[in-house]
Amino acid sequence: MSEPLKPGQTIGILGGGQLGRMLSMAAARLGLRVVVFEPGAGAPAGETSGGLITASYDDEAALTAFAQSVDVVTYEFENVPAEALDLIQARVPIRPNRQALSVSQDRLTEKTFLNDIGLETAAFAIASDEAELAQALGIVGMPAILKTRRLGYDGKGQAWIRDRHDAANALVAMNGAEALLEGVVDFDREISVIAARGLDDTIACFEPGENVHRDGILHTTRVPAEISPATRERAFGIAGTILTALDYVGVIGIELFDRGGDLIVNEIAPRVHNSGHWTEAGAVIDQFEQHIRAVAGWPLVDPVRHSDVEMTNLIGDDVDLVPGIAGETGARLHLYGKAEARPGRKMGHVTRVLAPASDRH
Ligand code: AMP
Repeated sequence: MSEPLKPGQTIGILGGGQLGRMLSMAAARLGLRVVVFEPGAGAPAGETSGGLITASYDDEAALTAFAQSVDVVTYEFENVPAEALDLIQARVPIRPNRQALSVSQDRLTEKTFLNDIGLETAAFAIASDEAELAQALGIVGMPAILKTRRLGYDGKGQAWIRDRHDAANALVAMNGAEALLEGVVDFDREISVIAARGLDDTIACFEPGENVHRDGILHTTRVPAEISPATRERAFGIAGTILTALDYVGVIGIELFDRGGDLIVNEIAPRVHNSGHWTEAGAVIDQFEQHIRAVAGWPLVDPVRHSDVEMTNLIGDDVDLVPGIAGETGARLHLYGKAEARPGRKMGHVTRVLAPASDRH
């Protein structure tokens, strides 16, 4: 199907978290219907979509019903099992495509892919047991970070190795999962580019944002990032290279380390990304609508930024600050409707408009 979706047609979203919630709200604004597929109960996206299927990713009957009720499928969660995707793809297109998913599901395939298309990553080597780890430390050096190859997010499944004594503990922390050792990049700052590619191959990049993490979880994104015009262009070039190489359709989040103007790719997320939430308050289009447009085969919008902004995640008890934030001028509040505020759980975010877009670029 390469015809654009018409208002009234339906997008299926795999994953019912806050990203799915914000995608479904954007779809609704364009008159498109959404059906969400989510294994867990109490899905934030369930409240904002026309249909919710609560079933596991190995429930073939539920997956078939899902695929039959939609015109195209996208996802907010990249660890959907391959068998589920096979079943869906036999009936409807999946955007972004399977290659984008499989590349980013495993840190080894991701880094290998990035290096193959000429992009720099941290040094890396597989390290799933003691012998491999000893060899990997010889290649990568110290300090290094041992990371599970799959299913890591928000700094989970990661252990720093600063000296030989840390190595054994780091392996234990992997809990038997296959792991990859990464060299620590001594970066000046972390930035990310949220970019999109349409069905007609058009590429549109949002302004890079500067990210600050706390305990491995994104804390703030400030836009624009403190980078030179040349670094900014380099970031856009990297986004274009990745999107084209993957024949990608949709929004992608690309996390980069800036080390003296050299950009080292940390991670790619084949979906809308937390570091792109600022676009709701800082640009003429937000990442969610841009993604829905791409997936629906609609034209992309030139994502001109109109404001300097800072997005702050509301994590765990931070929701206690909501009454104060709700009264702040220029603060755009977004809550995900989650009932319970557990430590480390993303409950919402606030984007503060700081000033009209500075004309640095
Ligand atoms: P990740 O889950 O791989 O995005 O890692 C979470 C955070 O840990 C990153 O945003 C960085 O702040 C830090 N980090 C991860 N990998 C590296 C690395 N190779 N060098 C330095 N810092 C890193």
